[in-house]
Amino acid sequence: MPALGGAPHCAVVPPHRYTLEFMTARWQEVAAATGLMTPDGTSRPTIFAEMTALAVRTGAANLGQGFPDADGPEWIREAAVAAMRTGRNQYPPGRGIPELRRAVAGHQRRRYGIDLDPESEVLVTAGATEAIAAAILALAGPGDEVVTLEPFYDSHAAAIAMAGARHVTVPLLAQQDGFRLDLAALAAAVTPRTRVILVNTPHNPTGTVLTADELSAIAAEARRVDAIVVTDEVYEHLTFDGAEHIPIATLPGMRERTLTISSAGKTFSLTGWKIGWASGPAELVEAVVGIKQWLTYSGGAPFQPAVARGLENGDADIAALRDSLDARRELLMRGLESAGLSFVRPAGTYFVCADATPFLSPDAPDGAAIARAMPERIGVACVPLSAFCVEGSPTAERLSNWLRFTFVKDEETLRTAIERLQRLGAAS
Ligand code: GLN
Repeated sequence: MPALGGAPHCAVVPPHRYTLEFMTARWQEVAAATGLMTPDGTSRPTIFAEMTALAVRTGAANLGQGFPDADGPEWIREAAVAAMRTGRNQYPPGRGIPELRRAVAGHQRRRYGIDLDPESEVLVTAGATEAIAAAILALAGPGDEVVTLEPFYDSHAAAIAMAGARHVTVPLLAQQDGFRLDLAALAAAVTPRTRVILVNTPHNPTGTVLTADELSAIAAEARRVDAIVVTDEVYEHLTFDGAEHIPIATLPGMRERTLTISSAGKTFSLTGWKIGWASGPAELVEAVVGIKQWLTYSGGAPFQPAVARGLENGDADIAALRDSLDARRELLMRGLESAGLSFVRPAGTYFVCADATPFLSPDAPDGAAIARAMPERIGVACVPLSAFCVEGSPTAERLSNWLRFTFVKDEETLRTAIERLQRLGAAS
């Protein structure tokens, strides 16, 4: 177990500089770290919000923001209704209701053989996003480095910037067998300054499911420098082609240094419920609680018992979602192919990344420009991979013409999008 450190106890609150510059600096750093800073110094909405708004305005088929068209299982939603009707509407405990913490522990044991004490080793959060932000804020600060893969999910960069830590990235490289971890870059990126390695598998946006070898390499680096691993596994059940999701906490010597994060959003198609969880050694969970209790404190009272039921009794629903997504993945891949877009076959998540280079034009010279033009021109929305990269990084350069399409939409929307994508060449 790496030392968590700790500031000496301070009886007197040190004076602060409550100046406008001081108070605005951190949000501007967050905007800059996520590529959302405008030239006039304000922050733009996220790429997902921007593309969804554009899709709504233009009537485009929205393969941008990854949220399902169809709500999750009715019996789980009914369980939330029942909870609301039977008076489960006040603050739940800060760590989450005991039945959900027990259900998370039961899920981790049944699926992965990870033993957790629901009392001290499981924390319920406002979605995985809060868990990630609270974990990074708890575990890293100025002078520390946090290593992620690149491309990376945007909120990971935001959390690192909120903590005032330095973001160091390791590229995933597009290859025949998927986007693969650059192992030499990993070894160079992890140093004694690395406080946290923030892993994400199955990986948004690339659809990579990290292999046992890739995870072993990350684990070895974490052990070498005594870093903590925070792992975002929200797509844990959405894997295809026989790819197996391996929680890094199950690797030798990793349980004691890994905080595992997941949520109900993707597993049960309930993204708006914002019920997530973090699990791991009591000391790590305690550290995250120390931040989380000052963010939302607690939330989602009637959703928590419903998600507990889902985790306990929802295996058939999870399998059905996975199978249906597999069919939709095939449909989208065939559609991209017939439109002339080359793509990397994803082994997990509900995203496919494709190279739009053949469709660039003087007025849409890169992925970001073509993604912003497509809703108007052909009626399809997607998101550019540049939104998941450090501005100007080698990975951003390599992926500057790439687009992410989601297949977590109903078949009709996918068919409409595919039909419209065939006009991409003509419209460029
Ligand atoms: N997770 C979703 C995606 O990757 C986006 C969620 C959001 O809009 N913040 O598309």
